[in-house]
Amino acid sequence: MPLQDHREHLRLCRLCGNCRQAGTTYRAICPAGERFGFDAYYSRGRAIIAQKLLDGRLDWAMPVADVVYRCTMCGGCVEQCPVEYRDHILEIFLALRAECLDRSLISSAVKRFLETLYAYGNPWKAPREHRGDWATGTAVTRYTPADEFLYYVGCVGSYDPRGMQVARSLGEVLLAAGVSFGILGSEEGCDGNEARLLGEAGLFEYLATENIQTFQRLGVRRVVTLSPHSYHVMRHEYPRLGAGVEAIHYTQLLRDALAAGRLNPVRGFRRRVTYHDPCFLGRHAGEYDAARAVLQSIPGLDLVEMPRNRANAFCCGGGAGNFYVGALDGTERSPGRIRIREARETGAEVVAVACPSCMTMLEDAVKAEGLEERIAVKDVAEIVSESTGA
Ligand code: SF4
Ligand code: SF4
Repeated sequence: MPLQDHREHLRLCRLCGNCRQAGTTYRAICPAGERFGFDAYYSRGRAIIAQKLLDGRLDWAMPVADVVYRCTMCGGCVEQCPVEYRDHILEIFLALRAECLDRSLISSAVKRFLETLYAYGNPWKAPREHRGDWATGTAVTRYTPADEFLYYVGCVGSYDPRGMQVARSLGEVLLAAGVSFGILGSEEGCDGNEARLLGEAGLFEYLATENIQTFQRLGVRRVVTLSPHSYHVMRHEYPRLGAGVEAIHYTQLLRDALAAGRLNPVRGFRRRVTYHDPCFLGRHAGEYDAARAVLQSIPGLDLVEMPRNRANAFCCGGGAGNFYVGALDGTERSPGRIRIREARETGAEVVAVACPSCMTMLEDAVKAEGLEERIAVKDVAEIVSESTGA
């Protein structure tokens, strides 16, 4: 829906400021607002900007685009907003981005990201035939119609070195659990979620349609995703384009495998762990329990919570393309660094994540904070792998 069709919705914002609680005591929830500190970067400020653009009291110009693109679409403000406006917030942010894009008001980093995705089908400029390299040396095989699940890995798990390790751990754990699955390898394409959230609906549809056609050709019915971003877009956007697949996130599959005794965490994991809720698994999908159930089933693992958890979790700063374009990086107020300090204060030795983007954002933050000797970031799949010897 274009921005001009949101006029009535924008009037619902009461400018109450609930979405911009001040942030020195872990109450604030907006990573963009926390990073920059000005009203414009919080949801309330964005509502004012949108209203002024529609009323002609503000010009479409690069400073507007700069604010518009420094949002991770984490949904924190939606959680805080007490009025009906909450149902329209993220659609309005998307409409703002789409219009910026139409007017060529995008940063060079966003432009480069979208052009690379269009030209190469991934943000790494990597050849497509290397997409399944992470599985080399494992017993993971190509998907066939006899498999129950397609294991969809996504771009970070396919090309980012740390993401590839996580993809491999999960592949080995799924094998150990006796899950019937296969991968697409070089036939897998980018899920398109980040293109969509940066306002490029056309590129999103191009990428998603290619995946959907592959799913249909191979008779895929169920997809288990490594990334919550893939999970989100396959649940909410792919059906609109004709996909008839059921998507689940891998933590849900591991929770069930552990409960059924198909995985035995016999080695345990004797460390204090805190779990960072990924925004696109937690707030966007309402799945807060699966990863916690997995972690709690591992002998010796001491699970502690950060002050901001579940619906109030603080974003790592990587959502909506920011993982690639780094629009919130660069200072000690960067969301990942704030989150790591929060994790450290729990006394945890390990931050568990269930998203390859969160993994990289938080590992970079650990290095920036100089805490490499004191805290590690591990994916839930890696913790299960270690505890089961998979
Ligand atoms: S977005 Fe919601 S919480 Fe924020 S100022 Fe508007 S009404 Fe208040
Ligand atoms: S979606 Fe997240 S980053 Fe964007 S304005 Fe809301 S709280 Fe801030």
